[in-house]
Amino acid sequence: MELTAQALDLNLSVPFRISRSVQTVAHNVLAQIEDDGLTGMGEAAPSGYYGEKCESVLVALSYFAEHLGDDATLIEDISANLKRVMHGNAAARAAVDMALYDLVGQRLGVPVYQLLGLNPERTPVTSFTIGMDTPAEMARKAQKATQFPVLKIKVGTPDDLEIVRAIRDTTDARLRVDANEAWTPKQAIKTINALEAFGIEFVEQPVAANDLEGLRLVREHTNLPIFADESCVTLEDVPRMAGVVDGINIKLMKCGGISQALKMIATARAHHLQVMLGCMIESSVAITAAAQISPLVDFADLDGALLTSNDPFEGVGVERGKLVLPDRAGLGVRIRATAKLPTKPIRARNARIVSAEDEE
Ligand SMILES: [Mg+2]
Repeated sequence: MELTAQALDLNLSVPFRISRSVQTVAHNVLAQIEDDGLTGMGEAAPSGYYGEKCESVLVALSYFAEHLGDDATLIEDISANLKRVMHGNAAARAAVDMALYDLVGQRLGVPVYQLLGLNPERTPVTSFTIGMDTPAEMARKAQKATQFPVLKIKVGTPDDLEIVRAIRDTTDARLRVDANEAWTPKQAIKTINALEAFGIEFVEQPVAANDLEGLRLVREHTNLPIFADESCVTLEDVPRMAGVVDGINIKLMKCGGISQALKMIATARAHHLQVMLGCMIESSVAITAAAQISPLVDFADLDGALLTSNDPFEGVGVERGKLVLPDRAGLGVRIRATAKLPTKPIRARNARIVSAEDEE
């Protein structure tokens, strides 16, 4: 198996603002694993918040290239081994993990959802995210998003109630809010109780990630379901969410890929937690990988590729919000006819990065 990697810069259609940051470009990495004439594709969307960046992913992949072995079908062994040799680096591991699923699906001639025994009809509707802006501007964006029956509103400003009121005045869409840790437990309780009047479906990460007692307090003193995102990163986090929140937001980039996400979903179910699948700013490679397991979850927020203006790939479709899985083998992702990848792949092996030019 030969692992190659290349930088994949994704431009945001509009600057994407949440309570703690604003983003105009996502510096992602495309990983490809070639084996016996087939190529599996994966993507890392590293997040500084979780301690990764483009460069660290490239270094991790160059190290991983030595630890893949020679049998792509052993995804569980490979993923466990990568986790052991390099703890953390979840986005880098996710890229390898999804490339292996892509490769094995292609080898067997079946889509990944079929490989996993999942019903493609059961995909959920994805929400479409409205980034932070003035209440009037957010309402304008919500009004424009007519093709999406569910909107996720980024909050965490002094104007939160005004924002949600302005959006509710312009749309009948189902609304979810995500505070990305912005509130204190006291502020959260007050705001969430006031938000109830606007028909909100649930509230994501109202308080600081490590404040589990705060999350529990918020849940006890409000009626809307509370979901953990930043508080629930890996499989090991899931059991301690029981009784603290109503549901969790699983992301391939937080947990290390499809194989880890499947374990998180099963563990969440065992603890009577609802499950949402979320994403970072990602191309159709990583979004399609997450969508492949979406028949297992209650909610989806897989709009990362829809927020970009230069996604070179096509994979999962969205029809009136519902995720439509491609029926092609593997992830079912292909490069758009009009797209060109910006850089040459780098061959990653022997713990050093060798550029394509050096190889020739
Ligand atoms: Mg979130």
